[in-house]
Amino acid sequence: MHPDLEKLIVLQQHDVEARRLREEMVALPKQVAQLQTKAAALAGQRAVVVDLLAKEEALRRRQESDVKDQQAKIEKTRKKVEGATVAAHVTAFEHEIAFAKGEIAKLEDAELESMERTEELEAQKRVADKAVAEAEANLASASAKSAETVAADKLLLAAVEVKRTAQRALIGETALSIYDRIAKAKGTGVAEALNQKCMACQMMFRPQRWNDLRNRDNDAEMMTCESCGRLLYYDPARDSPQRKVVEVESIAARIVRGL
Ligand SMILES: [Zn+2]
Repeated sequence: MHPDLEKLIVLQQHDVEARRLREEMVALPKQVAQLQTKAAALAGQRAVVVDLLAKEEALRRRQESDVKDQQAKIEKTRKKVEGATVAAHVTAFEHEIAFAKGEIAKLEDAELESMERTEELEAQKRVADKAVAEAEANLASASAKSAETVAADKLLLAAVEVKRTAQRALIGETALSIYDRIAKAKGTGVAEALNQKCMACQMMFRPQRWNDLRNRDNDAEMMTCESCGRLLYYDPARDSPQRKVVEVESIAARIVRGL
């Protein structure tokens, strides 16, 4: 394998890791923000229920006070009945009393209906309380975890950047510029050629090109995938078993050993 290609594979590992860390540092706070929005929405729904409960209670207080007013009116009218001397007046007062009693019955029915609504709202509030508590607990734990992970990622990223810079200094300018150009456009600049395919874009190689790729010597120019443009490397240790004659340490294993 071309010596630069081997170094580019290591560089790509650093680049992929740096990108993963950067993406995680952006994604985690976004997830926390989503949980925050959800918790706020649930708290809003709960507040609506609490507000409706308060309205029902205020309504019943008014109804109870109206009942008392009607009872006082009945009491007053009864006294008028006792003092009345004209039959027509007695009849009129008794009408008033009957009317007030009717009003009290209506108010008491309305009060019962309000109590039923309160019961239903209280059940809704219990569900809302639980949902809000769960959302807040989720938010708190995700928020703490995110802060912890992002802080760790910052340190990891700084370390990867140091390794990246050191690795780039080892690679020839031409290889590096091809790599940078493709990596910028495609996310990665180097791809493994395995089982006659580019593992990045899955394009099949023509047999002649495949043979050429497998039998290159180290000084030959690096080959790129005709479809995606990535620099290709071939790892005999990972090629189809029937073609493998002797055990060869895989390039990945060798790189890991060397790190
Ligand atoms: Zn390709």
